[in-house]
Amino acid sequence: MSVSKNVLKFGGTSMADAKAMLRSAQICLDHHAHLVVVSATSGTTNQLLEIASMGEQGQRDRAHALVVLIKNKHILIAHELGLGEVEMNALENLFGELATLAEGILLMREASSRARDRLAALGERMSSLLFRQALALVATKQEVRLLDVRKVMRTDDNFGQARPMTDDIRKLMATHLPTLGEDSAIYVTQGFIGETEDGFTTTLGRGGSDYSAALLAEGLEASVLEIWTDVTGIATTDPRLCPKARSIPEITFKEAAELAVFGAKVLHPTTLAPAMRARIPVFVGSSYEPKAGGTWIRWQTEDAPLVRAMALRKNQGLITLSTPKMLNQYGFLYEIFKIFNQNQVSVDAITTSEISVAMTVDASVLANKNLARDLSELCEVKIEQSLTLISMIGNNINHTAGLALSIFEALGSINVRMICQGASIHNFCFLVEGTQGEEALRRLHKAFLEN
Ligand code: ADP
Ligand code: ASP
Ligand code: MG
Repeated sequence: MSVSKNVLKFGGTSMADAKAMLRSAQICLDHHAHLVVVSATSGTTNQLLEIASMGEQGQRDRAHALVVLIKNKHILIAHELGLGEVEMNALENLFGELATLAEGILLMREASSRARDRLAALGERMSSLLFRQALALVATKQEVRLLDVRKVMRTDDNFGQARPMTDDIRKLMATHLPTLGEDSAIYVTQGFIGETEDGFTTTLGRGGSDYSAALLAEGLEASVLEIWTDVTGIATTDPRLCPKARSIPEITFKEAAELAVFGAKVLHPTTLAPAMRARIPVFVGSSYEPKAGGTWIRWQTEDAPLVRAMALRKNQGLITLSTPKMLNQYGFLYEIFKIFNQNQVSVDAITTSEISVAMTVDASVLANKNLARDLSELCEVKIEQSLTLISMIGNNINHTAGLALSIFEALGSINVRMICQGASIHNFCFLVEGTQGEEALRRLHKAFLEN
C-alpha cells in the first residue's frame, strides 16, 4: 500500500521571526507534513548577497554591520525558541562560516559565483536549524529531524542558477530518506540550495525554494505539495499592484505555469514542472491565515474562463532584427537562434514578419555585448530597453474574436509595442513602456476581472 507523503514549503515571511515560525510549525502539524522545506528568514538572502557586493567594493564597515545584523536576528529567534546547546553550537558554527567568508571576500575584493552561493546558502542553513526547533516545540509527539538538503539536491556547477539532476535526486532521496512517510517523523530541510557531485554548495536561483520543494516532492512521489506564503493563494494579479485582486480557488497547471513564467512572483517560474511531471497537486496558501483557503493547482478545473489572471514582467528588452535577406529565404531564424543559443540567452515572446523578427528578453542579458555583436554580423539590430511585458492568462485566449479590441479599449491611450498571440492557448501578451506597465495592468484588471 502506498503511504501518503506531504511536502510543505514555507517562504521567507513565514520564517520571519519566532512567532511566524511557530505559526508555520502549527500548519505542519495540522497538515500532516512529512517533509518541510524552508526559505531563509525574510530579507536574509538579500543581506548575504549584499555582504558579497560590499566585500568586493572593500566596504568593510557595511559588510561587518550586515554580518552582525544577520547574527543578531538569528540569535534572537534562537533564544525565543529556547534552542538547545547542540543546535546553538551548530548555529555558532554557521556564524563562524559567515564571518570567514565575509573576511575572505573583503581580503580578495572578489566574490566568485561559487563563493556567493556558499554565502547565500547560509540563510537557509540557519533558518532550517531554527525551524526544526520551532516544529519540535509544536509537534511534541513526533520526532523532528533536520536534513541537510545538499545530501540529496544534486545539481550541476552552474553556480547561482544551478540545474538539478533529477535522476540523482530521486536515488539520493531513496538512500537518505528510506522511511519517510512510513513513521511519524517529520524532516525539516532547506530550499534554494544544492550541491555538485564534487561537494560544492550551489543555489537554484533567487526565489528557488519553491523549485526545491517541487523537486523534492517529485523525488518522493509526494501526495501533495503545499506552498505557504504571505498571500491567500494565487490571485487574479499581484495584490500589491492591484488592491482589487482576488484569490483564485482553482487554476490549471498550464495556466499557473504560464502565470509564474510571465512574472507572478508567488511561484518561482520553474516550480510547476516537477509537480506536473509527477502529477502532484499543488496548494498555495497564507501561513498568516491558514484557514482562509488558497489556490489548488490541478490538471482540470470546473471552469475555464477566457481571462483567469494577469501578470507583468518588468525590465524587458525588445530586440528587433531585420534584413531583406529574410524575404523568401529559409535558415535565417535558424542562424539567429544559434546565436542566442551560443550566448545562452533565453527568448520569451517572439513575433515575425516577412523581413523582420522581434523578440523579448530579460533586459539583464543585454549587458552581454557579444549577443548584439554576433547578431549584427547577420542583420540590422535594434534594441529597446525598459519595457514591461503584460500577460493575460486564460483559456482559448489566442483565438477569441474581439479580445484584442477589448484590450485596446481598456488600455485607452497606453501605447502597445509588440503583441504576441497565438502560440499558447493560455497566454496573450504584449509590451508597453516600462513607466506605463502598472497602470496598464490596473486598467486591464478592472476591465476583465473586476465585474
Ligand atoms: P515567499 O517568500 O513566501 O516565497 P514571495 O514574496 O516570493 O513569497 O511571493 C509572494 C508574493 O508574490 C506576494 O506577496 C505577492 O505580492 C506576489 N505576487 C505576485 N503575483 C501574484 C499573484 N498573482 N497572486 C498572489 N501573489 C502574487
Ligand atoms: N531565500 C532565497 C531567496 O530569497 C530562496 C527563496 O526564498 O525562495 O531568493
Ligand atoms: Mg518566493
